[in-house]
Amino acid sequence: MFETIIGLEVHVQLNTKTKIFCSCATSFGEAPNTNVCPTCLGLPGALPVLNREAVKKAITFGSAINAQINQDSVFARKNYFYPDLPKAYQISQYEIPIVGKGSIEITLGNGEKKVIGVTRAHLEEDAGKNIHEGEVSKVDLNRACTPLLEIVSEPDMRSADEAVAYLKKLHSIVRFIGISDANMQEGSFRCDANVSIRPKGDSKLYTRVEIKNLNSFRFIAKAIEYEVERQIEAWQDGVYDQEVVQETRLFDTNKGITRSMRGKEEAADYRYFPDPDLLPVFIDEELMREGREVPELPDEKKARYVSEYGIKESDAEVLVGSLELCSYFEEMLGFGVFPKGAITWLNTELLGRLKGELTLQNCGIPSQLLATLLKRVEESKISGKSAKDILDVLVEQRGGDVDELIVSMGLEQVNDDGAILSVIDAVLSANADKVEEYKSGKDKLFGFFVGQVMKNAKGANPARVNELLKQNL
Ligand code: ZN
Ligand code: MN
Repeated sequence: MFETIIGLEVHVQLNTKTKIFCSCATSFGEAPNTNVCPTCLGLPGALPVLNREAVKKAITFGSAINAQINQDSVFARKNYFYPDLPKAYQISQYEIPIVGKGSIEITLGNGEKKVIGVTRAHLEEDAGKNIHEGEVSKVDLNRACTPLLEIVSEPDMRSADEAVAYLKKLHSIVRFIGISDANMQEGSFRCDANVSIRPKGDSKLYTRVEIKNLNSFRFIAKAIEYEVERQIEAWQDGVYDQEVVQETRLFDTNKGITRSMRGKEEAADYRYFPDPDLLPVFIDEELMREGREVPELPDEKKARYVSEYGIKESDAEVLVGSLELCSYFEEMLGFGVFPKGAITWLNTELLGRLKGELTLQNCGIPSQLLATLLKRVEESKISGKSAKDILDVLVEQRGGDVDELIVSMGLEQVNDDGAILSVIDAVLSANADKVEEYKSGKDKLFGFFVGQVMKNAKGANPARVNELLKQNL
């Protein structure tokens, strides 16, 4: 039996307006090499100046995971050669990172909690991008020098599921505290996984392999599972030492396998040394105070939803899985609907109808529209069943007007007792024999009367029909 050991390194792009060491914009998707200046192009003589906002966001992250914040930290040069790195070194932090040891609590599938240690988080600049087109390779340096927070975990995870739970939690933390948009497709939340195995009971750490190019939670799980399988097989076949070497492997998303990319460098290969162009970072009291203002974290929000709104913990858990869902839910409450209904109509009814490309953002149903629909149910203007029919239409045509649809679909509920009573009278007198049977104890006939009344009083509020029938029988 083997045990899996996983540690994760996550690069989070901080959402500052400008780059970490110059005043170029950080906007995504601009024409290549337009957001550049002598500093981020690495031209000789250009000097870096540290962006205060980036430091502040790092402090906020450190506070969110209860980590030690180092008031003094140091930027270092990490030397390596690659075409997308104009200075031939990356400005990073090595010996003294801005954020020290912290921890993140994750919830596993069976509801159990586990604490994953965070070793450190440091600030660094991103590299540019190489774009390969056939025989030609091009370099876009718009991304060069954008601020990254690299968050390094302890090797505390024991399965792909635990790794994904940790990443999802980390992802929601950085989104909730507003330091990054953490868009995995655009590369602002990138993960490398260090994976090794060992016989169960062994306390030694064996050779770890680093897997790169993991840009979705699904791929991360697949890549780890594949890699663990590969290492176990090598062990069982007696070729562990030949097959499992310290290296960087790339996950091939098409084939679902990892393959060797390059030998993994040791820290010494990077010849780190303190960057002489930058003073050590000193966090003054004002900056420390600003940075320590942490917005409501996912776990705090979850606890508040449960205590304040009386909703189920499992429902709250779904909501805090995404910042958009939380905002949508809170907006619905702002329009005056009840929390329990809002949860059901958002989590079950609306999300349940969003298939394929449809998302909460592009489905054409803003929070106000869904709240209006729910409100009409709460006011007994329409039945829950009719509301579901209306929602089908709203999803299909990407929006619309609830009140107009109620009229055009003829779904308005009759709450007028007079109208319902006259139908009841007609039904009872037309079925005098059944009324006698009912009165002599055949309770089952009640359903028959309800059906008859509903058939003849189109759109009658069923709850009201039930009540009035009981009174009149
Ligand atoms: Zn620049
Ligand atoms: Mn890094």
